[in-house]
Amino acid sequence: MGYIYADNAATTKMSRHAAEVMLGVIENNYANPSSLHSPGQLAAVQLAESRQAIAEILNCEPREIIFTGGGSEADNQALISAAAIGQRKGKKHIISTKFEHHAVLHTLQKLEKQGFEVTYLDVHENGIVRPEDVKAAIRPDTVLVSVMYANNEIGTIQPIRAIGAICREQGVLFHTDAVQAVGHLPIDVQADNIDMLSLSAHKFHGPKGVGALYARKGVALTSLIEGGAQERGKRAGTEDLPAIAGMAAALQDAVREMDANTAKVSALRDRLIEGLSAIPHSTLTGDREHRLPGCASFCFEGIEGESLLLLLDQKGIGASSGSACTSGSLDPSHVLLAIGLPHEVAHGSLRLTLSPENTPEEMEHIIQAVTDVVAYLRSISPVWNDLQKGIKNYVIQ
Ligand SMILES: *Cc1c(COP(=O)(O)O)cnc(C)c1O
Repeated sequence: MGYIYADNAATTKMSRHAAEVMLGVIENNYANPSSLHSPGQLAAVQLAESRQAIAEILNCEPREIIFTGGGSEADNQALISAAAIGQRKGKKHIISTKFEHHAVLHTLQKLEKQGFEVTYLDVHENGIVRPEDVKAAIRPDTVLVSVMYANNEIGTIQPIRAIGAICREQGVLFHTDAVQAVGHLPIDVQADNIDMLSLSAHKFHGPKGVGALYARKGVALTSLIEGGAQERGKRAGTEDLPAIAGMAAALQDAVREMDANTAKVSALRDRLIEGLSAIPHSTLTGDREHRLPGCASFCFEGIEGESLLLLLDQKGIGASSGSACTSGSLDPSHVLLAIGLPHEVAHGSLRLTLSPENTPEEMEHIIQAVTDVVAYLRSISPVWNDLQKGIKNYVIQ
């Protein structure tokens, strides 16, 4: 069996179709869409067609889409734009959640330093925001609510439509980081009452470094980059047409194949959840029902996620853990802490995220490998020894 890639929430393999579309643009449509000559106009047509394709899928107008350099940039621009609107109106309160992506959380921290006040809502044990909590947090000076569509670590899907309806009724802007959802779940910005939405191509088998921000007309965007008048003055810099066309093609494919992919991938996920739940003192993290079709996320008591990942990699399995071990810090994931897991358990996390390229045989291989590696790591763990001897109590029964 070849290497098993099960880290599709981190990034996906670009589809052959998206790569072919990109190569076609690189070779045949390389002029600058802002140029007045005919090759430039051909490039402008392809740019417009890509925008139209994405707008149709989200159910908005093409002029409500601006292209960005990915999901992080779209998140930054959405929050900074809403803050500027709030500043002009004297509204300096923002509502978000404890388990957003760092592109949102770090931008909010920056806004806090500039005098904005942020309420971080609880996501409860199941990893789902309650619309009534959003409603209760709204104040006369609230300018924005930002809640992610689906969480990238535990895969839980949020009640976006209900939250959007509350925001609409209260006259508060509503942004959603839909990077994990676009191309995987049906999304309609009108029906979902969304004012701003971030998406990223590399999470749905498109190219990396390109994304889009939907902003309902009337929502004034602040440009993050000074320069030319591209994207109606909201995002300076020559458009990356190969990447944008590749993103549009990948999204069209993802939406056309969505039902079939969801059926296939959720069956694989369900088998993983069944198989891994048999490991003693383990728990599925996040709600069992309201979760992304391809996401199985776990915590195992008495082990370190990093060691688990390294040993799985040696067995030919690429997975991910919630605990960010960047720059040697051993801080457990803010997402796992937000759903109420204690530090010692949050360290033993594993995230497996699937694509339609995965197979049932691979799932059996993963279940066996994780079961063996968890047993091995426990056999050499002093913490596990204490738990077994009753010196410490299990957190996960
Ligand atoms: C991946 C991801 C991002 C960042 O997108 P990039 O295109 O990598 O910048 C933002 N939010 C969520 C939920 C993500 O999963």
